[in-house]
Amino acid sequence: SNRTFTMIKPDATAKGYTGAILDQIIKAGFSVKAMKWTRLTPEQAGLFYDIHRERPFFGELVEFMSSGPIVAAILEKENAVADFRKLIGATNPAQAEEGTIRKQFAASVGENAVHGSDSDENAMIEGDFFFSKLERF
Ligand code: ATP
Repeated sequence: SNRTFTMIKPDATAKGYTGAILDQIIKAGFSVKAMKWTRLTPEQAGLFYDIHRERPFFGELVEFMSSGPIVAAILEKENAVADFRKLIGATNPAQAEEGTIRKQFAASVGENAVHGSDSDENAMIEGDFFFSKLERF
């Protein structure tokens, strides 16, 4: 598929990085098909990250992801999922390549500035979590 889903996470919105991150995403060739500035409740954050419910960091993840505003977006580009994960870099910013979004803007493995879907199937599921049919084109 040619679509992926992203969130700019609460650490990055709080630090004022939203504009700079969106700028890099667009300059990398992604076009925005839907976007919203919103905030997750702890319950919603838990549902979004349901797959991690049994992991030791789940409580921390839910608390963090509901701690402030996020920007959710559906992005389009050829090879979107893989190219976007390359653009954001490794989950742990200490291991992220120079020039990646996480290398520049992430503070730690938990507070890592951005999310990017890990498969075409999850990109669809995650986009549907945030956007109705009327909100995407
Ligand atoms: P994302 O799904 O947000 O793009 P990812 O696919 O790179 O991240 P996952 O392993 O799926 O990483 O973990 C999902 C999210 O859970 C991470 O982005 C991070 O915010 C958080 N997380 C992962 N590992 C840890 C950890 N060891 N401690 C705290 N939080 C973590």
